[in-house]
Amino acid sequence: MDMDKLVSLCKRRGFLFQSSEIYGGLNGFWDYGPLGVELKRNIKEAWWQDMVRGHDELAVAAGAPGAYEMTGLDCTIIMHPQVWKCSGHYDLFVDKMVDCKECQGRWRVDHLASSECPRKPSKRPGEHDKCQLTEPRDFNLMFPTTVGALSGEEGRAFLRPETAQGIFVNFKNVLDSTRVKVPFGIAQMGKSFRNEITPRNFTFRSREFEQMEIEFFCHPSESRTWYEYWRDRRMKWYTSLGLAGQRLRLREHEQDELSHYSVGTADIEYAFPFLPEGEYGELEGIAHRGDFDLRSHMEGKLVKNAEGCLEVEMVEDEQGRKRPKWKGSGRDLTYRDEITGERYVPHVIEPSAGADRATLAFLCEAYHEDQAPDEKGELQTRVVMRFHPRIAPLKAAVLPLVKKDGMPEIAQDIYRKLKLRFAVFYDEKGAIGRRYRRQDEAGTPYCITVDGQTLSDRTVTIRDRDSLQQWRVPAENVVDEIANRVT
Ligand code: ATP
Repeated sequence: MDMDKLVSLCKRRGFLFQSSEIYGGLNGFWDYGPLGVELKRNIKEAWWQDMVRGHDELAVAAGAPGAYEMTGLDCTIIMHPQVWKCSGHYDLFVDKMVDCKECQGRWRVDHLASSECPRKPSKRPGEHDKCQLTEPRDFNLMFPTTVGALSGEEGRAFLRPETAQGIFVNFKNVLDSTRVKVPFGIAQMGKSFRNEITPRNFTFRSREFEQMEIEFFCHPSESRTWYEYWRDRRMKWYTSLGLAGQRLRLREHEQDELSHYSVGTADIEYAFPFLPEGEYGELEGIAHRGDFDLRSHMEGKLVKNAEGCLEVEMVEDEQGRKRPKWKGSGRDLTYRDEITGERYVPHVIEPSAGADRATLAFLCEAYHEDQAPDEKGELQTRVVMRFHPRIAPLKAAVLPLVKKDGMPEIAQDIYRKLKLRFAVFYDEKGAIGRRYRRQDEAGTPYCITVDGQTLSDRTVTIRDRDSLQQWRVPAENVVDEIANRVT
């Protein structure tokens, strides 16, 4: 698939716009247009419905090792700066960066091989005539900001680089305010911010994006089983919504790739068309985080010692006395099992997904070109976005064949009834073939046409976006017909 075609369709049809475009745009920031906002919202709602609200804690879901509960949270973007010190982001959330002394270009060291020089696009960074790249240095990806009128370190805070930490610091609040018992999960979706050095590949690497994260708390002895459950469950979620092809894969990390706290991580990846052949981009990471996060917020920032065990990172003060580098909250974040009496720090499985990357993958997967007959029966190339009906921005379009003979009135009546339940579109302008094409590009699964026959027998035509089949149903049954097909 040609990525340029998708990018231009996204702009033309209102899926995605460059942020602040009238001022030349801002690199790494994107706005969702009228169709895009519906698509992304449907993806987020499908996630919340399937993972949180629709989850039935009484039933052992297919493949789940046991019953579990799910609950949600919505935390602030700016949190106490100590959160990021204990989580490790303050010290470790860095990319290695180099600058070109001549053109002032800036790159991530690990992106150098696939980047171009902005001055001479045929060249790699640093290939100017007498050019030199600076030595690699650390660049922290957190966006700093100032809270209140305090200047300097005291007022310094950060926009969250992930939603996960809000869940950990509220672990006790959730336990105390609900009656959830381990194993249970807390879900959160919301904006995260990373000052990416080289934002690129459309929305894939943005500086402001949305995450959909779950922290699942379980007994340490069961954590591997739950890790495997979540890894497989999340993979199935993507396939159930239409990412069913060869382009999706699950990849277990090698031991040397694992984060400092993790004993297992898998990525759900998609072969985005802008990546070189054979390369995949991460949609979601499912990480086994052990007790790293809860213990860090309790005791202070943890590091692995020589034996590979986690312990509080210590530094020496001026008098040579050892003290924790970053002190934890000192709050008790352990869990007590009421039945066995055991007290422990739960282990955590974290399925961490990006709403924008998922949206981009669904856009790429949906894009198709095929041959369809026009009004004269001649085959024409048509662009069709084959979204799964659950995530399609519009579920149906209502089209009167002509703008007379009472057809618009009947069509508007159907449109209003549908609108109470679904995102639908009414269009009476232009040739019917052109109107179908516009809906194909928007990915609308069904078009409902009011035509001459409607006037005599009160039936309408329903056209299927993918098969192009048409059939008639009584106008009064249209809402049920669409509901059965899109929900
Ligand atoms: P990458 O290696 O691609 O930078 P990551 O491993 O740092 O990603 P995580 O910290 O695991 O990503 O974040 C979880 C999810 O959040 C990712 O799987 C991705 O979907 C999303 N995400 C992370 N960074 C970005 C970004 N800059 N733009 C859009 N989505 C992002």
